[in-house]
Amino acid sequence: MHATYAPFARPLYVMLKPIGAVCNLRCAYCYYLEKKGLYPDVNRFTMSDELLEQFVKEYFESQTSPAVNFTWHGGETLMRNLSFYEKALHYQRIYGRGRQVENSIQTNGVLLDDRWCRFFKENNFLVGISIDGPQHCHDKYRRDVNKGPTFYKVMKGVELLKKHEVDFNVMGVVNDYNVDYPLEFYRFFKSIGAQFIQFSPIVERIDGKPAPWNVPAGKWGDFLIAIFDEWVRNDVGTYYVQYFDSTLANWVGEKPGVCTLSKYCGHAGVMEFNGDVYSCDHFVYPAYKLGNIRQQSLTEMMYSEKQQQFGLDKYEKLPQQCKNCDVLFACHGECPKNRIISTKDGEPGLNYLCEGYYKFYTHVAPYMDYMKKELLNKRPPANIMEYLNQ
Ligand code: SF4
Ligand code: SF4
Repeated sequence: MHATYAPFARPLYVMLKPIGAVCNLRCAYCYYLEKKGLYPDVNRFTMSDELLEQFVKEYFESQTSPAVNFTWHGGETLMRNLSFYEKALHYQRIYGRGRQVENSIQTNGVLLDDRWCRFFKENNFLVGISIDGPQHCHDKYRRDVNKGPTFYKVMKGVELLKKHEVDFNVMGVVNDYNVDYPLEFYRFFKSIGAQFIQFSPIVERIDGKPAPWNVPAGKWGDFLIAIFDEWVRNDVGTYYVQYFDSTLANWVGEKPGVCTLSKYCGHAGVMEFNGDVYSCDHFVYPAYKLGNIRQQSLTEMMYSEKQQQFGLDKYEKLPQQCKNCDVLFACHGECPKNRIISTKDGEPGLNYLCEGYYKFYTHVAPYMDYMKKELLNKRPPANIMEYLNQ
C-alpha cells in the first residue's frame, strides 16, 4: 500500500457518456470516434433509463461533498433528446434529497437551439463549447460528416447561449495549424464573451507514429507564452485560463484545477453508454476497464486497487529526467497519455510536449513568484498587472 498517497482527497468523479462515441461531426483529430470499435455488435449507443437511474442513485451515494457535479460528455451530448436530460434531473431530485447539484455538459454547439438553451438556463447547466479559434483555425479540422465547415454553426450556438444568458466556457484544441496564431486565438475567445478558457494540446498516434496534426512541442510552449504575456499584463482576475490558474495553484502548493498538472490522478473515471466504467476519458481501452455498473458499484470500481494504481502511476512511471527536473512541481510530467517519447538516455515515458512545457514554466517563473508573494500576503495576484505596467 502507498501510505503517503491520498488520491481521493478530491471528490470521486465519473463523467457520463449518454450516447457513447456517436457524433454529428468528424473532426480529423478526434480520439473518441474510434471507441465505437470497442462495441462491434452494438447498433444503438444510447444509455437506457434504467442505467441512468442506477448511475444517478449510486453517484449520490458515492459522493461525500455536499455539492454533486454531473458531467455529460460525448460523442455529441445533444444527440440525445432533451427528454433524456429531463429524466436525469428527475432522478437527481429523487436521489439527491435536497443536495446541491451541478450539471456540466460538453458539446460541439452545432445542435444548440432556443429549446436547448432555455432548458440549460432554467436548470443552471454550465455548457462547455469546443471551438478551435477563429474561422480559419476552427474549420481546419472541425468538419461535419460531409467534410463541410462548422464554424458558423457553432457561432450561432454561442449567440443563442448568450441570448439566453447560459453560463458557458470554451475549450480549444491546439494543433499543428492554430498553434501559430496564439494571440488571435486568445483575443477571439475574449471577443465572444468567454471568461473561462481551456486549451488542450493535441497529441495522438496513428499506427504508432505521431499524428500529422499534433502540436509541435516547442511551438506549444511558444503558444502558451504568447498568451500568458498578454494575460499577465491585462487580464489577471478577469479572464481565467485554466493552465495559468493551475500553474499558480502548483506554485503556491494548492491542488491545481486540472488533473494533467497534478502529481497523481485517477479520481476522474468515465462511464460509457452501457455501464462500462474506465479509468479516464483518455484511457477508454479494454486494459483500463474497471468493470460495469450492473455488476459492481461505482465506489468499488473507482476505489479499486487497479484504479488507485492508475492514479499513482502518473508519478511513479515518470522517467528520471522528470524526477530530476526543476519544474516537476508545476509540470508533473503532464498527462500520461502524452508520454510517448524517450529521454536522451533512452528511457521511455517522456512527455511529447516536454520541450514546450520546460520553456513555458521557466518563462513564467518570475511572474508566478510575484503572484505567489501577493497571495501569501493576502493580496490579489492581479496586482502584478500594475507592477508590470508601471
Ligand atoms: S490520464 Fe491524463 S487526463 Fe486522465 S486523469 Fe490522468 S492526467 Fe487526467
Ligand atoms: S518539463 Fe519535461 S522533464 Fe520537466 S517535468 Fe515536464 S515533462 Fe518532465
